[in-house]
Amino acid sequence: MRTPALERVWQQVVERMAAAARPKELAEAVYLLRPLTMTRTELRLEAPNRLMLVCVVEEYLPAIRKAVAEVAGPHDVVVEVATREQGELFPELVRPRAERRAAAERAMLNEKYRFRNFIVGASNQFAHAACRAVATQPGDHYNPLFIYGGVGLGKTHLVNAIGHEILSQAPLARIQYLSCETFMNELIASLRRDRMEDFKQRFRLVDVLILDDVHLLTGRERTQEEFFHTFNTLHEHRRQIVLTSDRVPKDIPELEERLRNRFEWGLIADIQPPDLETRVAILERKAELDGARLPRDVAMFLAERITSNVRELEGALRRLLARASLDRRPLTVEYAQEILHTVLQSKPRAVAFDEIATVVCGHFSLRPGDLRSRRRSPQIALPRQVAMYLCRRHMKASYPQIGQLFGRDHSTVIHAVTTVEQRLKEDTTLQAVLAHLERSLRGE
Ligand code: ADP
Ligand code: MG
Repeated sequence: MRTPALERVWQQVVERMAAAARPKELAEAVYLLRPLTMTRTELRLEAPNRLMLVCVVEEYLPAIRKAVAEVAGPHDVVVEVATREQGELFPELVRPRAERRAAAERAMLNEKYRFRNFIVGASNQFAHAACRAVATQPGDHYNPLFIYGGVGLGKTHLVNAIGHEILSQAPLARIQYLSCETFMNELIASLRRDRMEDFKQRFRLVDVLILDDVHLLTGRERTQEEFFHTFNTLHEHRRQIVLTSDRVPKDIPELEERLRNRFEWGLIADIQPPDLETRVAILERKAELDGARLPRDVAMFLAERITSNVRELEGALRRLLARASLDRRPLTVEYAQEILHTVLQSKPRAVAFDEIATVVCGHFSLRPGDLRSRRRSPQIALPRQVAMYLCRRHMKASYPQIGQLFGRDHSTVIHAVTTVEQRLKEDTTLQAVLAHLERSLRGE
């Protein structure tokens, strides 16, 4: 039987080895082992599969013996292949804080994002409850859990909180948080170095996989293919999968049907922009965490002006608190107004469609009617996509609403926005064009 004492010994061994290991693989191989039993003379470990067993025995056994000896005195170390049901890998233990932190780091979780500092309001109540449920019984209820919502509304925060919560209940749970971007980069690196086996092992052996921003899978066939297999393996073993996206699965363009279908298997929960009261509560809580006292009228002032994005709200607060402490000025509405003047000016609350159309047509030398025309020539198609992208960024309008402005349906708008987003990652000319257009929209 595994006991807390055994878990503790093993934890120390792992940490000792991780600290000492030069090749990163050592730590990773050891991390996949589980302690089974320990007598006065022998420690039995289990490896998740034959491959790992061979790898550990051939390469790392001496180092493990050494670390075990340092922690618990000399022991014979025996490794065997796991026979137990995979679902049992959640020991009920509480570890000291430092160890939990190490586990959270390995899981690539962001320290700051916890349930306790997430403010719940009508806009995110459902997503929050779903995340809580999953954190309590991972793998059992909603699998996958799919959270979607606009930028800066707390998706990344909530899914990190799931990871932390699970670790606090089951410190040895193998949790992996990563953005879709990282998943893709690691895939490319593994392909290049011919290390696909490692890649597969790494993601298919976790208890909880949190993949952030899956809308970025759009058009990435190889990544989708690999993720499809990862998904299946995890799901079959009742491992928890948590996904976030800026839109529902059916609106993610160029996503394979079989993935889309799987994304819809579990629970889909949305996060909406927070209402005024929630925005005020968020500001007050953030100020409190920073050790500052934020008067209610100042909180109201900020919350009324920054409405659609919690990240911006936070940014404005941070700036205000920093300046107030530098200038040694009390936090008043007048002072907030003075400091945030530039932020609030440069972020117009909403830009009208006409302004976007004027700026885009001006830049690309088109006639105003061209954006709505049926013509598909490249001279018009790109400006039209750029205009749609700007509408999405600057107007408080849904995809269908934007579609109407251009006489197109919502899927065309989604496609346009995604295309521009993708191109912006590499196309420096387009980056410059957009920077210019954005400046024009701000009236600079
Ligand atoms: P998303 O992933 O949806 O773009 P994030 O999770 O990165 O958004 O959130 C942006 C910022 O706003 C983070 O610093 C996060 O802590 C904060 N935030 C968002 N919603 C809340 C909330 N309800 N309570 C507290 N902080 C929040
Ligand atoms: Mg995010």
